[in-house]
Amino acid sequence: MSAPNSSYDPVEVTPLNAEEVERVRDEALAAIVAADTLDALKQVRIDHAGDRSPLALANREIGALPPQARKDAGQRVGQARGAINQALAAKTAEVEAAEEERALVTEAVDVTLPWDIEPVGARHPITTLSEHIADIFVAMGWEIAEGPEVEAEWLNFDALNLGPDHPARTMQDTFWVTPERAAMVLRTHTSPVQARTMLTREPPIYIACPGRVFRTDELDATHSPVFHQVEGLAIDEGLSMGHLKGTLDHFAQAIYGDGMTTRFRPSYFPFTEPSAEMDLLCYVCHNEPDAVADCRTCKGEGWVEWGGCGVVNPRVLVACGVDPERYSGFAFGIGIDRTITSRYDIADLRDLFDGDIRFTQPFGVEL
Ligand SMILES: [Zn+2]
Repeated sequence: MSAPNSSYDPVEVTPLNAEEVERVRDEALAAIVAADTLDALKQVRIDHAGDRSPLALANREIGALPPQARKDAGQRVGQARGAINQALAAKTAEVEAAEEERALVTEAVDVTLPWDIEPVGARHPITTLSEHIADIFVAMGWEIAEGPEVEAEWLNFDALNLGPDHPARTMQDTFWVTPERAAMVLRTHTSPVQARTMLTREPPIYIACPGRVFRTDELDATHSPVFHQVEGLAIDEGLSMGHLKGTLDHFAQAIYGDGMTTRFRPSYFPFTEPSAEMDLLCYVCHNEPDAVADCRTCKGEGWVEWGGCGVVNPRVLVACGVDPERYSGFAFGIGIDRTITSRYDIADLRDLFDGDIRFTQPFGVEL
């Protein structure tokens, strides 16, 4: 196919002779038949019906012809272009219909087919219980306090009346952060949060501190180097052991239900004086005479161990800038992990930390 003739000599305008127009038209129609996608048709339209197509170019030559020849050529070219446009329109409609049909088949969704059920996930029982405990104390008007897990040695020990020679400071119990001169440890309890609060705030103070703590225990069925505690601290004028007992009994009832209570056994902790081990009424047999002897949970005791507590040692108050002449307070701590293993009769503490969803799923369902 030649370019538009620039000499304007009608005799030499080959695109306008009948055979040539026919050839160009047939070529276009063949291309249209061969095109079976909308993309292919688009290209055919550009090549054979566009502004630069042979017949469009030929059409521009018509004006240069003598009047009679102009009429014939105009008719020929016009008919050829009409035939091509008509074929293009018909083929486009056909291909569009076919593509729509194909989409309906390939994109169909069979709503009756089974599908893969994606597990939605759930919070870990340790998280759930921590939040539940936090809710109980917030409902009593207490605040939730948090602190860093890498803690200053002084806040973890000295401020809490654990002197330099206290056995808990030795390498056997505590993870020390290197270099040793930094005097930093992985906190061995959440009590430094209490010290931080007393150092930065004026009483009255009512805080609960749930958190993760660390000790150099081997991981076995009843020990873990990482475990979870919640500790409480109340500092106010006139607080006594009686307020501590009332608070813990309310706490026990909020978790285990009506009728639950606690009992104290004398004990020793450096940061409280007097100090007590705290037992919880057995939540299975309730220490009832006809059930307690056969109870496996408390082994016939009627009580299960729950944590430690006491009246805050005045030396701790002094170290943390609180006037012991004016204020007194109480503190307590329970193990969250132990509370879960005893409550749900879980024999191996490691089940809590393995991350096996078959273990945690039944807890998640409770949410
Ligand atoms: Zn019992």
